[in-house]
Amino acid sequence: MLHYDIVIIGGGPAGLAAAVSAKQSGVESILVLERDKELGGILNQCIHNGFGLHTFKEELTGPEYAQRFIDQLLEEKIEYKLHTMVMDITSDKVITAMNREEGLFEIEAKTVILAMGCRERSRGALNIPGYRPAGVFSAGTAQRLVNMEGYMPGREVVILGSGDIGLIMARRMTLEGAKVKVVAELLPYSGGLKRNIVQCLDDFDIPLKLSHTVIAVEGKERVEGITLAQVDANRRPIPGTEEHYKCDTLLLSCGLIPENELSRGLGIDMDMVTSGPIVNESLETNVEGIFACGNVLHVHDLVDFVSEEAVAAGRNAAKFVLEGKKEATSKDIPLVATEGARYTVPKTINVDRMEEKQIVRFRVGDVYKNCYSSVYINGERVLHKKRIIMAPGEMEEVILTKELLSSKGDIQEIVVKVEEA
Ligand SMILES: Cc1cc2nc3c(=O)[nH]c(=O)nc-3n(C[C@H](O)[C@H](O)[C@H](O)COP(=O)(O)OP(=O)(O)OC[C@H]3O[C@@H](n4cnc5c(N)ncnc54)[C@H](O)[C@@H]3O)c2cc1C
Repeated sequence: MLHYDIVIIGGGPAGLAAAVSAKQSGVESILVLERDKELGGILNQCIHNGFGLHTFKEELTGPEYAQRFIDQLLEEKIEYKLHTMVMDITSDKVITAMNREEGLFEIEAKTVILAMGCRERSRGALNIPGYRPAGVFSAGTAQRLVNMEGYMPGREVVILGSGDIGLIMARRMTLEGAKVKVVAELLPYSGGLKRNIVQCLDDFDIPLKLSHTVIAVEGKERVEGITLAQVDANRRPIPGTEEHYKCDTLLLSCGLIPENELSRGLGIDMDMVTSGPIVNESLETNVEGIFACGNVLHVHDLVDFVSEEAVAAGRNAAKFVLEGKKEATSKDIPLVATEGARYTVPKTINVDRMEEKQIVRFRVGDVYKNCYSSVYINGERVLHKKRIIMAPGEMEEVILTKELLSSKGDIQEIVVKVEEA
């Protein structure tokens, strides 16, 4: 059996930043396990620019952004294994992994950082009626085919779902010579970033049809067309609104699901809203010494926030290894997301264990204009941040300080909500 102080599952931006941060916090014995043939995660297929504006104040492509962290990993001489799939983790932190050279092997760790990212919602999960012809792809699969494998999935394209991957692929397919006829979105608002709607649809005159869905896929061998219909407030198709589009390809961009099979297997408590682990202020799960960060914890809009969160996870895991879990005299205070806020990460804060500043991230469930993100402690409003617009596609944050929480005495709960102006 191999032994490491920290084992990180996943070599995407979260795993890389967590590894570098843990090393810089004083832990020498670190191993990153990655099932793919290279480090960098999903960023390797994101060849568009727009990454790193917050972290590096530059517009980088996905691979360029990932490379900055890979370089740091190499400089820090952190060990990693590629082509290595983690099959199981136990609550006493024994990891079972497999690769071609070593076969099935076990590693014992003092702490584990979960950084497995997320995967796309598939057609099976969407209940689209019709045959199963060739030509239906998830947008991320199409992105990999075009950007990494050098294949064009089709020439006449309809995209269902206006998440960021769908928007980015509308532009990519257009630039590669395909005709993107329409992007249809079930909800009355887009799930993607505003900047992607402007740069990927508006700039290329690609129509976005909100409150629309695909009700039929035609073609037996290959997609020959699809039918769109408008939906009502209950997301049911409205008879008489059907429109037919001739196309050979349907791309699906209908949401991302954190990859938490390993987490569930080891008994980690999950958040029903994020589908990620429930974590405390240290990004530690209910299983002591197991931390989570990045898209496996909750789906992020910008990779910069993934890196920032992963740096904290790496630092906290290092502290756990070097100092053990700090005994706290104060209790874990629950964070409650309500009135527009759908969830918070973290879900509890312990004032003794928190750092001077605690970032609390959340998403809203609807589009709100000229509003405030507010925080209440024991019924008293302590933060009131003006927001011109808040949308479900964009992550929100509030920052709580140790000074503030320490000054409030016995705190029953911290409430995060949206307030109209
Ligand atoms: C198509 C697309 C476009 C995007 N565009 C932008 C953009 O323009 N700007 C921006 O800032 N952000 C963008 N993002 C978001 C950003 O890329 C992600 O937030 C970020 O990559 C998440 O990092 P991660 O490390 O959590 O996950 P990933 O990058 O998904 O990495 C997870 C890694 O874990 C590995 N793994 C999973 N399970 C196992 C296992 N059992 N064993 C071993 N390894 C495992 C995977 O192979 C993968 O390499 C985009 C994302 C996508 C998908």
